[in-house]
Amino acid sequence: MTLICGIACEDNNERGCIRMSMEMKYAEFWLKDNLFSVYSSYECNVELQPPQHTLLPFGVGTFICVALYEDGGRRPRGRGRSNGDVARSYVGQGTKRGRPAGRRATARSVITEVGAAASGSGPPAGADAGSGLRLLPGASVVRQRSGDFLTFPHKLASKAAVGNDLSVSQQHGSVYWKNGAGLALRGLRGDHRLSRQLRDCFSVRDSPVWMDSSSGRQCERLQEAAGGAAELAEITGSRAYERFTGSQICKMREERPREFGETERISLVSSFAASLFLGDYAAIDYSDASGMNLLDIRSKKWSRVCLEAVCPGLERLLGAPLPSASVLGAVSPYWVNRLGFSDKCSVVAFTGDNPASLAGMRLREGDLAVSLGTSDTVFVWLRHARPAPEGHVFINPVDWRQFMALLCFKNGSLTRERLRNRCAGASWETFSAALRQTPLGNDGYIGFYFDVMEITPPAVGIHLFDAEDEEVRRTLVPTSSLFETLVVPQVSSLSAEAEVRALVEGQFLSRRLHAERLGYSVVPGSRILATGGASCNKDILQVLCDVFNAPVYTMDVSDSACLGSAYRALHGVLDPSGESFFDVMRKAPEARLAATPQPRAQQVYDEMLRRYARLEEIVLRELRL
Ligand code: ADP
Repeated sequence: MTLICGIACEDNNERGCIRMSMEMKYAEFWLKDNLFSVYSSYECNVELQPPQHTLLPFGVGTFICVALYEDGGRRPRGRGRSNGDVARSYVGQGTKRGRPAGRRATARSVITEVGAAASGSGPPAGADAGSGLRLLPGASVVRQRSGDFLTFPHKLASKAAVGNDLSVSQQHGSVYWKNGAGLALRGLRGDHRLSRQLRDCFSVRDSPVWMDSSSGRQCERLQEAAGGAAELAEITGSRAYERFTGSQICKMREERPREFGETERISLVSSFAASLFLGDYAAIDYSDASGMNLLDIRSKKWSRVCLEAVCPGLERLLGAPLPSASVLGAVSPYWVNRLGFSDKCSVVAFTGDNPASLAGMRLREGDLAVSLGTSDTVFVWLRHARPAPEGHVFINPVDWRQFMALLCFKNGSLTRERLRNRCAGASWETFSAALRQTPLGNDGYIGFYFDVMEITPPAVGIHLFDAEDEEVRRTLVPTSSLFETLVVPQVSSLSAEAEVRALVEGQFLSRRLHAERLGYSVVPGSRILATGGASCNKDILQVLCDVFNAPVYTMDVSDSACLGSAYRALHGVLDPSGESFFDVMRKAPEARLAATPQPRAQQVYDEMLRRYARLEEIVLRELRL
């Protein structure tokens, strides 16, 4: 069994346009029942018994994985039309030395092709934004390929208005297929490039992606139609967001009626990519559909209220959504004829990068994943949806009866770095020592550190409270760059060490409070999965662990979205046999235990969380005055 993975990357060019293109960039391959991956950092051991021919879902501005191959891992001999041929048809016939490619050599060839990309122009800009693209270091160049595998010149988002709404990397983009495009898709011929055959298939040639935040008016109207922000969140999992597809479609209908009138189908970027492989319009999957402000996340049907507000009759243009594990059909003959895909290769529904990451991390019920990067992001698995005006609830990509939630916090690592520089002599070592030297609960001090306007909650400034809930410091800062120039009054009783703890405890109390508001709670067996740059800091992880009163595990999930797509495809194919996602993935590598809660943690932080919630109300009220 071999998995070959391609990338659909966003290429941000100098005009701020985003161009979609898809190219093969790396490969994973199976020998016996081991999956080997050419990511530099990944090797895993997922059992894969039955023969598979799976076109692997996924993508959305990230990438697509294609699982080809067969024979239950048997290594083919000779040069039959089998595994090796598929890869050879992509990489050419030879290896570096011009030997005919056998199976191993074929895998090498694909790997060296990866090397070609690495030593050539480098990874495409934006391709690492959650995509999991990893190029193999040290691989030698066989020959350059200029991306004629699947280049698709359609521009997505020439009007990328980078606004105040950058909370998630879910793509949300929409693609507008012109009347007659379905026919063209179904009739794709193997002897011409896709780009040529689909050139005239789009009614809108500069479709919006997630960076577009110009649909504020449409958002207001959508919320009005639903009865308010909370009501819209109750139906669709999120209040109205400019980047979400509903308001974008509405804007398109109002401002470009001619193009909109010529449209026979609207895809998300994910279902668009799936459509190319399917050779027909692919259904939008439940998880990515949850990022549109159009789907009723409980009934799993398009919401009548939302559709009416956006565009009466829109259902016809969207098609019916399907569970994310759905097998949509066999790969288009285009791929069979042009690139030697197996005609038994199935296409599993594609989804967005965040749902795919959840699958890649193999989050389970009760788990919470925290990415401690430039921004902090929290993912949780939810049994019951309890949407709130902040954060997003999606239908779960690995079990459509359940949900996942996503929260994003702008004041993450950059704020920790600022305090490190101010209070810890610019050293993470000293920063960590400060956490070790200060007590759980920080003698009652609670800090809110919002250098820039926070997403969850919408607040800004530094607010520090003492054990009597007295606000002992307040600094309102419009931007982080201005911050350093402000004179911050020092509270004499607060040491630099305590200030470090106030920041880190405050950040994690906030993560816990808002996750709980969306329905999350720590239960016996819950795990906190920590990833991102700051997850290498054991003392920060100890505070995280204590605040949640749950063990913290770390894992290398830099490839989680990609890996999740491979898992999802496999699960999609096995799903009809009744195997759960976790059964299918039982041999995948486990996360490593990094911290366990200290004995007093629960008592200290349960109480502190109640205070934090009360003080957050005060901060928000003061900011409104
Ligand atoms: P991105 O969101 O850009 O992918 P990363 O996940 O790579 O970010 O995380 C980068 C951040 O990790 C840096 O901004 C830095 O503040 C933080 N970081 C790196 N090392 C440490 C450390 N030892 N302790 C705490 N934070 C760290």
